[in-house]
Amino acid sequence: MIKFEDFNLNRNVLLSINDMGFEEPSPIQAEAIPLILEGNDVLGQAQTGTGKTAAFGIPIIERVTSEPRVQALVLTPTRELAIQVSGELRKIAKHKRTRTLPIYGGQSIGHQIRTLRQGVQVVIGTPGRILDHLRRRTLRLQDVSMVVLDEADEMLDMGFIEDIREILSHTPNTRQTMLFSATMPYEIKELTRRYMQNPQTVQVNRKEVTAPLIDQVYYKVLERNKLESLCRILDSEEIGLGIVFCRTKRGVDELTDALQERGYLADGLHGDLSQAQRDRVMKGFRDSTIELLVATDVAARGIDVGNVTHVINYDIPQDPESYVHRIGRTGRAGRKGIALTLVTPREMKQLMTIEKVTKTSLMPRPIPTLEEVAE
Ligand code: ADP
Ligand code: MG
Repeated sequence: MIKFEDFNLNRNVLLSINDMGFEEPSPIQAEAIPLILEGNDVLGQAQTGTGKTAAFGIPIIERVTSEPRVQALVLTPTRELAIQVSGELRKIAKHKRTRTLPIYGGQSIGHQIRTLRQGVQVVIGTPGRILDHLRRRTLRLQDVSMVVLDEADEMLDMGFIEDIREILSHTPNTRQTMLFSATMPYEIKELTRRYMQNPQTVQVNRKEVTAPLIDQVYYKVLERNKLESLCRILDSEEIGLGIVFCRTKRGVDELTDALQERGYLADGLHGDLSQAQRDRVMKGFRDSTIELLVATDVAARGIDVGNVTHVINYDIPQDPESYVHRIGRTGRAGRKGIALTLVTPREMKQLMTIEKVTKTSLMPRPIPTLEEVAE
């Protein structure tokens, strides 16, 4: 069994890992950390919730010096993920004088500029805002030796490829590039070929793309009964924290209203909300004052809230990759999770595609009867 002590890490980093309660490296960490410490370009694929952040975060914090220059850059698809990754890196750097800064749209750029001026070693950001800083020359990347593309498949889906290309052109060619992703579609391989040198591939459970600790169930529902069906499901399940996915922002707003009207502790998250609103909702969810987070795919990407017990696909995901990402919000770090998917008769084909690609079959379950719910 590989231990964190085997990686020859500085004492201060080991101390932080210990503070974080990590007892042993997860499989992706066991494989990726030594490769990254040796300076390799690394292409990492592992199911969601397996500790990819620390897999690149530990070597980054280990290697950055205290010089006030940006030495590592992590690109993430969403603001929430930038904040979350920054938080995790900050924890790893707790006993070291390393400053990490999340940079994302929707937050005052002035504040970011002032912090950058004070000297930051690690920047974690969304492509749009990073580019904004590069154009204003408030962020310099010529001393960056490590670049991470986190949730790279999502960044491609969201159309960030040109932005990524431009950002990378501001970094030295000698940089070390790491790319992490839960899925490895063709476009990623293409990106790898273009931007990485002799990348070492680390794949954990390649065949089993969904986490094994997630119970996967589907309910056949009629379109017009969806809300009623959802409520019965909510009432019959022991839900700690749940994320309910909708296809559209409007769908999120409507379902959030409907659930709030019925007395559920629900709130919505999507890209049209202000940053302050999004932060407030995420904080409420983390503090459990919100039990049901109603969200679009984009808003929920990469979110890591430890005790999510249920992921509910109120609208079936449009593609299998999205399904994998959605249900990966539960069953994290070895915990058990339940993924429930509502399927209308028209959507049975989509369900079959999901089952085929993920190589799992979802268990059918009848909608709870009123009697069952009343118990
Ligand atoms: P991924 O990026 O693969 O989806 P994360 O990096 O977000 O997963 O990690 C999921 C959770 O597991 C986080 O809460 C993280 O703190 C925790 N975690 C990571 N590595 C370990 C470890 N070695 N031991 C225990 N928990 C870990
Ligand atoms: Mg991640």
